[in-house]
Amino acid sequence: MSSKAFDVVVIGGGIVGAACALECAAEKLSVAIVEARMVGGGATAAGMGHLVVMDDSEAQFALTRYSQVLWNELREELPQEVEHDACGTIWVAADDAEMQEVFRKQKFYSERGVVVEVLDEQALAEAEPSLRRGLAGGLRVPGDSVIYPPCAAQFFVDRAIARGAKLFVGQAVETLTREGVRLRDGSLISAGLVVNATGSWATELTPRLSVKKRKGHLVITDRYPGFLRHQLVELGYLKSAHSLTSDSVAFNIQPRKTGQLLIGSSRQYETTDASGAGASSGVEPSIVTRMLARAVEYVPALAKLSALRAWTGFRAATPDKLPLIGPDNENDRCYLATGHEGLGITTSLGTAKLLVDQIMNRPAAIPISPYLPSRMAPETTARA
Ligand SMILES: Cc1cc2nc3c(=O)[nH]c(=O)nc-3n(C[C@H](O)[C@H](O)[C@H](O)COP(=O)(O)OP(=O)(O)OC[C@H]3O[C@@H](n4cnc5c(N)ncnc54)[C@H](O)[C@@H]3O)c2cc1C
Repeated sequence: MSSKAFDVVVIGGGIVGAACALECAAEKLSVAIVEARMVGGGATAAGMGHLVVMDDSEAQFALTRYSQVLWNELREELPQEVEHDACGTIWVAADDAEMQEVFRKQKFYSERGVVVEVLDEQALAEAEPSLRRGLAGGLRVPGDSVIYPPCAAQFFVDRAIARGAKLFVGQAVETLTREGVRLRDGSLISAGLVVNATGSWATELTPRLSVKKRKGHLVITDRYPGFLRHQLVELGYLKSAHSLTSDSVAFNIQPRKTGQLLIGSSRQYETTDASGAGASSGVEPSIVTRMLARAVEYVPALAKLSALRAWTGFRAATPDKLPLIGPDNENDRCYLATGHEGLGITTSLGTAKLLVDQIMNRPAAIPISPYLPSRMAPETTARA
């Protein structure tokens, strides 16, 4: 494709960069992956790994649905350590108002071919006996599943390497150049195209981007096999996930294949803690307390279990809650694959397909315009 050392340099070895690198390599493009820290670190290590179809907008639905189909196609090939678990989601309705949301979601999903099941109070209690009594019901989405994201990222990178990609790990890109990228040690990697897949760090290399860091906390428990059967999410989660300004906490819990329970989650802007890379960096006890209290409200027996560890990570949030996938407005040799907020594990595979369809100049399986960076007016730029 070019006379440079590589056709494409993918910057970032999180799940999005890893998936993009693999998709490029599968197209026989020569690929370099540059990862500053470790493959599958960053938000990918901090996230929950819920592969979930969402209905916040038609565009969000299209990308999550498309990606879920791609995950399903890959399912048999995923190694054991990716811990794929087809546990499904239950969206839990606390009261009649939230039950209306259950019916709205049921209609939305059913009309678009996603299998869902409305649960009344009794059916909810049978499906998930650990939930407190007196909840109004819920919506089961059996096609949703769970993975362990860092191992999925490593799996994608290993496959890309097997197809000829070269991994530069522990090497940070300092800047994009006309010829490719310059690393912090001063060395250059020449490439026809560069993909900025650095998640919430994306503005360090492309400063005009409308991407803000949105902090999240998670807590993991000791092993309690069989304690829960589904990923459970309160319907109030949607209200909190939508807020673009205030801090919020909502009940979201995931049974891991190990028997551990992953308890979330929080969303915060304007935090002064900008580390986010270490295992327990930036943990705020007040947020963890609120999160656990909310979880115990829904699952009272959680109060008797042992929590092992809490950590934080940063989602890369855009103003319209959709990722940026495609050429940078001001540098057509740089493609963006960032801004996935709380859905980048799910949408990594769809993102990689849409990105490579654009690079190869061919039609995509779903309309790409909602994700093109060109939709963002320059004046909406906000730095992290
Ligand atoms: C608490 C929490 C819960 C979540 N739960 C879910 C969930 O259940 N389901 C879901 O779908 N999503 C979830 N997400 C979102 C998901 O984790 C992210 O959207 C996804 O991991 C983003 O992947 P990424 O590859 O874009 O970014 P990252 O994983 O952050 O990777 C970016 C990589 O770029 C590297 N990098 C940065 N700068 C440079 C540079 N200059 N040079 C070289 N390398 C660089 C970093 O070291 C990092 O490895 C959650 C997120 C959080 C925080």
